[in-house]
Amino acid sequence: MAKRVFNFNAGPAALPLPVLEEAQRDLLDFQGTGMSILEMSHRSKEFQPIVEEAENLFKELLGAPADYRVLFLQGGASTQFAMVPMNFLPAGATADYILTGTWSKKALDEAVKIGDAKVAASSEETNFDRIPELSSVKLSDSPAYIHITSNNTIFGTSWVNLPNFGDIPLVADMSSDILSRPFDVRPYGLIYAGAQKNLGPAGVTVVLIRPDFLERVPKNIPTMLRYDIHAKNNSLYNTPPVFSIYIVLLVLRWLKAQGGLAAMEKLNKAKAALIYDTIDNSGGFYRGHAQKDSRSLMNVTFRLPNEELEKKFAAEATQAGLVGLKGHRSVGGMRASIYNAVPLEACQALADFMKEFQKQNG
Ligand SMILES: *Cc1c(COP(=O)(O)O)cnc(C)c1O
Repeated sequence: MAKRVFNFNAGPAALPLPVLEEAQRDLLDFQGTGMSILEMSHRSKEFQPIVEEAENLFKELLGAPADYRVLFLQGGASTQFAMVPMNFLPAGATADYILTGTWSKKALDEAVKIGDAKVAASSEETNFDRIPELSSVKLSDSPAYIHITSNNTIFGTSWVNLPNFGDIPLVADMSSDILSRPFDVRPYGLIYAGAQKNLGPAGVTVVLIRPDFLERVPKNIPTMLRYDIHAKNNSLYNTPPVFSIYIVLLVLRWLKAQGGLAAMEKLNKAKAALIYDTIDNSGGFYRGHAQKDSRSLMNVTFRLPNEELEKKFAAEATQAGLVGLKGHRSVGGMRASIYNAVPLEACQALADFMKEFQKQNG
C-alpha cells in the first residue's frame, strides 16, 4: 500500500481513495472487455451508459428537475468565462457581474470582449476578504443574467447564503464548491465547474443548464461553443474526455454512498470548524483572510505573524505529511483546501499541527 499524505492542494486536488482504487482495479480490463476504459470508443456500448449515469446522478445529487441538462465539456472553467456571454449576452442586452475574486474578474474580462457586461458589486477594495452586502448590489435594467462565483478558491470566501434575484437568472462559477452542500438550482440558468477541485480529475468541465437557457443559444457562433449542440449530442458531439468523465462518475457514486449533499455539508462544516476554531483561538498568531460571515468551507486562508514563519510552517507541515498548504501569492500565507474528498482526519491533523507549531514558535 502506497504511503498517502494529507493533501490540501487547491486543484487538481485530493480524490476519494476508494475512487482511485476502483479506477486502478479496472484500468487494464474494464468490465470484462479486455480493454481499458482509456482504449475504447466514446460511442461504445460500454461508454454510453457512463455519460448517461453521470448526467443523471449529478442531477439527482443536486435535486435538479428532470428537464435540466448536464454537459461534460473541455476547456476548463476559463472557457466558460467566454462561452457564457457568447451564448447568453446578445447585442442590446446587459449582463451584471458580482466581483468576489480573481476568477470572477477573469469571467468579467471575457464578457466585456463579447458584450455589455457591468460590475454590479465588488469587494476588491478590501482585497476580496468578503462577499459584498446584497444591499450594495446595483443591477442594470433587466440584465440577461447575473454572474457570481459561489466560492472564491484563492481568497477563501464564499456565498454562505446564495443570492436569489427573483426572475433574473443567475449564472454561477461553482468550480470549487459544487456538490459541497445542497442548494436550490432553480434560480440558475447555468452553473459551471471545472472538475479538478471538487468533482474529479482535470480535463472535464461540468455544466448544468436550464431548459430555457438552451433555447436562447444563437446559431451563428462556432459549433463547439454552442451549449445546445452539446446537449443535443449528449456531450458526444466530438470525442469527450472519456477518462475524466469516468472518474467523475465514480466520484458521484461515492458522494451518493456518503449520504449525498446534506451529509457532505455536515461533514464539510465540521472539517472547516476544526481549522477556523484553531485560528480564532490562537490569540492572533493565526489571522484568517476572510471575514467571518464570508468564510469558505472549501478553502481556508490564513496568515502567520511574518513571512519567515509562513515559510517555516509550510516546510515543516510538508515534513509532517501535510502538503499543498502554501497560499496563492495574491493573499500570501497559507491556504488549506478541504474539498469533499479531504477526510476529517486530515483537518484534525492540520489543526493539531497548527497548535503545536504555535507552541514552538509563538
Ligand atoms: C480553478 C478555478 C477556475 C479555473 O478553472 P480552469 O478549469 O483551470 O479553467 C475558475 N473558477 C474558479 C472558481 C476556480 O477555482
